[in-house]
Amino acid sequence: MGTYSREDILRLIEDEGVEFIRMQFTDLFGQLKNVAVTASQAERALDGEVMLDGSSIHGFVRVEESDQCLRPDLDTFAILPWRPQLGKVARLICDVYEPDGTPFAGDPRNILKRVLAQAGNRVFQVGAELEFFLFQADENGKPTTRTSDQAGYFDLGPLDHGEGVRREVALALEDMGVEVEASHHEAAAGQHEIDLKYADALTAADSIMTGKLAVKTLAQRSGLHATFMPKPIPGVPGSGMHVNMSLSQDGRNLFSDEAAPDGLSLLARQFLAGLLDHASGFCAVTNPLVNSYKRLVPGYEAPCHAAWSAANRSALVRVPSHRGARLELRSPDPACNPYLAFAVCLAAGLDGVERRLDPPPAVTENLSAMSPEDLAKRGVRSLPASLDEALSALERDPVALEALGPCAGRYLEGKRREWEAYRTQVTQWELDRYLTAY
Ligand code: GLU
Ligand code: MG
Repeated sequence: MGTYSREDILRLIEDEGVEFIRMQFTDLFGQLKNVAVTASQAERALDGEVMLDGSSIHGFVRVEESDQCLRPDLDTFAILPWRPQLGKVARLICDVYEPDGTPFAGDPRNILKRVLAQAGNRVFQVGAELEFFLFQADENGKPTTRTSDQAGYFDLGPLDHGEGVRREVALALEDMGVEVEASHHEAAAGQHEIDLKYADALTAADSIMTGKLAVKTLAQRSGLHATFMPKPIPGVPGSGMHVNMSLSQDGRNLFSDEAAPDGLSLLARQFLAGLLDHASGFCAVTNPLVNSYKRLVPGYEAPCHAAWSAANRSALVRVPSHRGARLELRSPDPACNPYLAFAVCLAAGLDGVERRLDPPPAVTENLSAMSPEDLAKRGVRSLPASLDEALSALERDPVALEALGPCAGRYLEGKRREWEAYRTQVTQWELDRYLTAY
């Protein structure tokens, strides 16, 4: 933190020949937004004087209270490697402020910062695994769900037709200061994964937004369409965004206890219990789309139940056996707003710590193969089966609601509208199944 001063940025703009600065922020529903200012406006932009009309941003404010300003986080300064290198384009990720200087309560970055403060001196460390599909475009440039690639998990070229895009994304991200730990072909044809190195949650959320932009932009350059939609094709695996979490203090991993058989400290176990306890409550945030719930079905390594395990990929939380103690939450998908997702996860974990919750025993069997009676006997609850169920669970979860703060109502309202729009559709599946049979 505190890498760049205002003067450093002005010098960088000059030395690098930057002509445009993109002032970026994220709306409540996870869409990246930006306004470009020319380099001549740099001082004004750095002083937080670039305004936006909040009433035009999904989930922000009403028309009568629309003026807001963008205050850049200087440490997020980066040059966009995919834009022209003569007359460069830089970006700054911004916080949204009210004109009177108070942080805007509906800005996802501010929401995350508020919850991070509740962790006190402990740093919430997050490493995300971004899964996505690369599809072909049709003759009009419109995205399809077709892929020429026939590769599977960890395959390489010539089967893998996405290695060029993954390479460009990894190089671009490293250029922008986002550390990429690994990238590989995922299980489904046309499906890929990019793993970001863990960082403090705010940086990690910024990096996810940058990573998604890089994937989409560089795929488009190769004539492909990248999508983070959780389940674009029925019958094959969907795309998740596994979130690896830990708490650290003074560089020490507080989740680690060498003496414990599973390597997990008491704090980690309580945090885990909190995650399990609120898993349904925060689901509408970590899995925000109607389509998210088509991914959370048995048989595709995506979780359907609030259970944990050391190795079991059908569990909601996995405790990977190597590389430092951490909890891998497997439910989130890459359509989520990462700022809000990390805010609700941290609030859930801290609630477990505060209430000194004990996690139930680990489940080693394949949860997808267990009967409802077996699951009930072990006290394992199912995750919400639809956005509708998830929204009701969120409405009943005071911890998740408090993490979202004053914008919770707006979030629920927007998502309820999305559910209603879906619920009143008649799908092709229904026509195929019923039109002639009845
Ligand atoms: N694609 C799977 C999911 O939907 C995860 C596969 C994996 O274990 O990486 O979560
Ligand atoms: Mg994966």
